[in-house]
Amino acid sequence: MPIRATKRGAQRTPLGDASHQVLVCGASFAGLAVARELRSARARVLVLDRYEIGERQTSACAAPTAWLHNLGLEGSIRQTFGSLVVHTPGTTARWPLPWTFSTFDYRELCRLLWAQRGPDAAFETATVSGRTGATVHTDRGDVSASIIVDALGWRRVLGAGPNVQPPNARLSRGLEVHPSGSARDLELWIDRAVIRAGYGWSFPAGDEVRVGVGSFDPHDHVKQPTLWLAAELERDAVRYQGNWIPHRLRPAVQDGVFFAGDSAGHCLPLTAEGIRTAFYFGIACGRELRAVLEGRQDAAGALQRYGAFSAGHRAKFEAMLLAQRAVPRLHPRAVDAVVRAFAHRGLSHWGFRHYLEIAPPQFALPAPPAPAQRARRRAAA
Ligand SMILES: Cc1cc2nc3c(=O)[nH]c(=O)nc-3n(C[C@H](O)[C@H](O)[C@H](O)COP(=O)(O)OP(=O)(O)OC[C@H]3O[C@@H](n4cnc5c(N)ncnc54)[C@H](O)[C@@H]3O)c2cc1C
Repeated sequence: MPIRATKRGAQRTPLGDASHQVLVCGASFAGLAVARELRSARARVLVLDRYEIGERQTSACAAPTAWLHNLGLEGSIRQTFGSLVVHTPGTTARWPLPWTFSTFDYRELCRLLWAQRGPDAAFETATVSGRTGATVHTDRGDVSASIIVDALGWRRVLGAGPNVQPPNARLSRGLEVHPSGSARDLELWIDRAVIRAGYGWSFPAGDEVRVGVGSFDPHDHVKQPTLWLAAELERDAVRYQGNWIPHRLRPAVQDGVFFAGDSAGHCLPLTAEGIRTAFYFGIACGRELRAVLEGRQDAAGALQRYGAFSAGHRAKFEAMLLAQRAVPRLHPRAVDAVVRAFAHRGLSHWGFRHYLEIAPPQFALPAPPAPAQRARRRAAA
């Protein structure tokens, strides 16, 4: 698929009134996962984003390697890591991981994910501004669909009531720079001299390194800490990328709309890992919608089941949030002790296995059948 620059000015013609069965707003991790899941349903799916697919990277782009493999996205992998190096002012420890993390190329990942869509799925660039019932308002006119998915990220544009606004909402914030260069290790810094409540990171990705700082407190600025960390690591502070990150679950269904990824607060508190959870909940949402499109359940059933699925993860998300609140309050020597303890393989493997289970990569399997396979299966039945 050619990646064009986002349409501007006169190119932003009205979207027209073609009827769509499913309207997916947001073409990043969550939205593209939903669209992929619908490929066998032969549904008229319209995906909207204010930017062309893959044009604007939204994160440091590190995810468990198995998730990328199970989604057929291994072609986007830049570098793979079997351990995590964690620094505090008092210690440095290498945590052995029971599974690997990989950094990937955002544009290529989005391209590979979108390539797995169904034949009746289309994409348009449009900025979504709100919704009235089943009609979504955009800068290119109104679009209606019987099923609407908000995968627009933290702002939850299609939610009821006023949009989520920082700094008073339950949001973290992150900022990173992407200098050219290389490094061997995935590294984290838990250091109050860098950021009061949060952490810094350096994620190498082949020929670039993503260096940034995240704060769990939306009032704390992250630009100076990011510049400081980049300077410490002798990296150029170039190619900035930053965003707000919700750190608490929000209702995954509301007023007939499905929410997946950051719009539903699906990013994990403490680690701010939101890519695999965006895939995970996007797939869960897509499976329910597929059942609607194939006549196996009605939309009300899908809303109920998907809402319950997401809410069923509340205890795990709340436990991560408790840890997020506790870590900045720990005495620095206690932080050192915990960081050192995780250098032991037994504890690290135990902890990271449980952590992966919150959104396990096996969930991506089996892949949704391709449209042709489905037709063949029906003929054989
Ligand atoms: C600096 C930083 C680094 C991070 N690093 C990692 C990491 O390494 N690993 C990890 O797992 N998580 C990371 N995260 C978290 C992760 O980026 C998010 O949780 C994840 O991107 C959520 O995916 P999503 O598809 O829900 O939303 P997003 O990726 O935010 O996508 C939302 C999409 O909606 C579009 N959009 C938004 N508003 C509109 C609108 N009004 N109209 C039309 N389109 C719109 C956007 O253009 C975008 O394409 C990081 C976050 C930050 C800020």
